[in-house]
Amino acid sequence: MQKKLVMMILALAVVMPAAVFPHGPQGQREGRGQRAAAPPPPPMAVKQVKPGVYMVINGGGNSTVRVTDQGIILVDTKNLGDQFYNDLVAQIKTVTSQPVKYVFVTHVHQDHAGNIGKFVQAGVPVITNEGLKKSLETGGVDGKGYTSPAGKPAPPNVTYSKNKKVKLGNATAIAYHFGRAHTGGDTVVYFPDAKVVCLGDEFVTTPNGPNADYPNGGSVLEFPKVIAQVLKLDFDTVIPGHGNDPMTKADLEAYQKKLDTIAKKSVELAKKGTPKDQIRQQIQSQTPDIGTWQMTGVVNDQRLDAFYEEVKTAK
Ligand SMILES: [Zn+2]
Repeated sequence: MQKKLVMMILALAVVMPAAVFPHGPQGQREGRGQRAAAPPPPPMAVKQVKPGVYMVINGGGNSTVRVTDQGIILVDTKNLGDQFYNDLVAQIKTVTSQPVKYVFVTHVHQDHAGNIGKFVQAGVPVITNEGLKKSLETGGVDGKGYTSPAGKPAPPNVTYSKNKKVKLGNATAIAYHFGRAHTGGDTVVYFPDAKVVCLGDEFVTTPNGPNADYPNGGSVLEFPKVIAQVLKLDFDTVIPGHGNDPMTKADLEAYQKKLDTIAKKSVELAKKGTPKDQIRQQIQSQTPDIGTWQMTGVVNDQRLDAFYEEVKTAK
């Protein structure tokens, strides 16, 4: 009863100003009539993960900053745009005056790949999987290359196929491409001396869960196999692509199990002839272990055809 009352008061508090002052000062200030503007996105902030390892949250996907006595290895470049690039550089400057010597980019989406061009222009090696470069050219929903409303990231100046090692000062970084997961050009960056691994959007801690971008090469069925490969590395700390905190290897193990559950249930349901328009909802209701993850997000409407084709033809 009390809960209901509180909810009603809350609802009224939200509705009242617009209802009472439909064209009042609030609406004018926001310049959108009766519609309240979305709250501003949270500002970038830097967090220490371990000695010499920092993560920069917000402004797009998480970036990782590995500081050495010879410069910085950076993972991911934030949303496309000068403001985001400048903010990222400013955040890095709060922890070190060392210059960025290498950049790795985990995947093609502009909230991670956005400022590749800025670092390339500055003469910094920007290293990505060759699949990322291919996606920029021929990926995307229409097969005409990756696009987003924010624009298209610039191509990297260094690509690799399976793995690529970089040494800088007292640190080593190894980029791995273990296969198709979030996209077809994912990179996992491993810092063996720090026992830290950066997963980009192969690991997100947002409540709705991860997603597989089929038009850019992602795969729900390959995803758990890729994370199983990551788990073979020797690390204790994981930087997620989204989510404000570093996570543990145990967190990634639990996450891999959820992905595996979804993959197995998808194939099982497809074999039973579950129609395309029901399969996500059935996976959702038959896999309570995935908790708050949403199958309509793991596979969104635009990607449903490709997902269904994959699970239907799986051996
Ligand atoms: Zn992404």
